[in-house]
Formats: sequence, structure tokens, C-alpha cells
Amino acid sequence: MKYIGAHVSASGGVANAPLRAREIGAKAFALFTKNQRQWRAKDLNEKEISAFKKNLDDCGFKTEQVLPHDSYLINLAHPETDKRQKSLNAFIDEFERCEQLGLTLLNFHPGSTLQQISDEEGLELIAQAVNTVLAKTTTVTAVIENTAGQGSNLGHRFEHLKTIIDQVEDKSRIGVCLDTCHTFAAGYDLRTPETYKQTMGEFDRIVGFSYLKGMHLNDAKITLGSRVDRHHSIGRGQLGLEPFSLLMQDSRLDNIPLILETIDAKLWREEIALLYTLAKKKE
Ligand SMILES: [Zn+2]
Ligand SMILES: [Zn+2]
Repeated sequence: MKYIGAHVSASGGVANAPLRAREIGAKAFALFTKNQRQWRAKDLNEKEISAFKKNLDDCGFKTEQVLPHDSYLINLAHPETDKRQKSLNAFIDEFERCEQLGLTLLNFHPGSTLQQISDEEGLELIAQAVNTVLAKTTTVTAVIENTAGQGSNLGHRFEHLKTIIDQVEDKSRIGVCLDTCHTFAAGYDLRTPETYKQTMGEFDRIVGFSYLKGMHLNDAKITLGSRVDRHHSIGRGQLGLEPFSLLMQDSRLDNIPLILETIDAKLWREEIALLYTLAKKKE
């Protein structure tokens, strides 16, 4: 079963997210549990938590169909100790919010060296942050998102993901989310059956599909290896439809959230329906 959905708005409260996902025919969704561009947020109250759980249940979503995303401000590899600590505190808060909502995954951006430390040092700092948050919490798995490699962002090479995972103590609570646009921007092609097989084979060899906990399905406005992060609607960008057809027929992607972060939310319902059609062909 493919769990296809989109990153829906939580405006007006997290309890609205499952309702919005149901509206567009989604069988998965992503959300921010707080404003992604602000450091501080009010704690979730009992009323918000129970409303979220009720709506999740009413809309037929299980927790494994939900892939929350952390704040854009967090940089776990920040070279300055006080700023890194601020990020770590916010990261812990994100985990606690997910736990309160009964969710089991949290998708995060690995971090950026700001060209002040080496990639290896940055990756080690990220792994340390993950070890800290996993020790302080109990139920949420940390899901590293691969990046386009824009600026000094880490996580664009599969080897980066592997290096972080290697240094995480609790391997049962660490995973990976592959974003198709970021993968392509980072230089891994997906546009033909051959390049798809090669890229996914490389991912499996270096990281391993057992760590794949979710995907972001985005077409790309940019070219292969450009290291620039610009999403496009499915089938309208440089990737085209073929990679999504291959993904929908790949059983290694069954039963994990597959999330659209495409640029036109008005198309999400149509995109989800299209992806389900592509998934059906061979099933
Ligand atoms: Zn992301
Ligand atoms: Zn992106």
C-alpha cells in the first residue's frame, strides 16, 4: 500500500491538518507542529492534543502515515556552541510535541557548517544532537532528510546520511527521508529506469532501505547536480513523470509516508490521484 499525501497547513491548530489531508484524498500527510519560522511556540494544550488525535482517528490515519517536519531555523551543526544549543533545545521541543500528539516520526534537516567547520565535524555534531534527543525522549524516530546541498548544507551525499547513522547509538530510532528534488539536485539521476535503478541501488548499498522512513515527492525546477533547491509540480519540471511512475511501482516504498511538497497546493488532489493511478498499473 502506498501512503501518498502532502505537507498540509496546520494553521488554526494542528487538529486541522488531518482534516485538510482527507479533503485532498491523501493517505499520508506532513505538518509543522509549530510555526516553522519562529523559535518559540506555545506548548500544545490538552484540548489541542485530544482534538488532533480525534481527527486523526476520524480521518482514518495511523501514526505511521504522518511525517511531521521540524522548524527551518534549527541548525544542529552550527559551529557556535550557544547557537547550536539553541537549536538543540528547539529540536528537543519538536520531539516532545510529536510525542504529545502520539506521533512516531520527525523529519529534520541535518544542518549546515556555515563553512566554518569540516563536513566530518558537522556530521558528528548532528549525530551528537540526535543521540541527546533520543536519550531525552522515548517514542519518536529521528528521520534525516537528504538535501540539495545548497550552500554549506550537509546531507546531500548518501555518505553523509550513513556517517550520521553510524554515530547514532539507538539504530532503532534513526531513519532517512529521501526528497526526489533534493536527490536530483545533489547529482543523483532518477529520470530513466537505468538511472533510477543505479541511484536507488547506491542508496541501498550506502544507507540501506531498512532506514527509509518516508519520501518527499517533488519535481524539480533545476538541473541535475545544480545543488539548488527549487521544487516543481509533479511531471512539470526537469524530472518529468517517469521517476514518479518508477517510484509508485517500487514496493520498497510501500507503507511509508510519501509527501508532496510541490509548489501549487491547488494541484495536490490531482497529483495524489495521478500518483495512485501510477501505483495501480502493476499492482
Ligand atoms: Zn524538508
Ligand atoms: Zn526542498
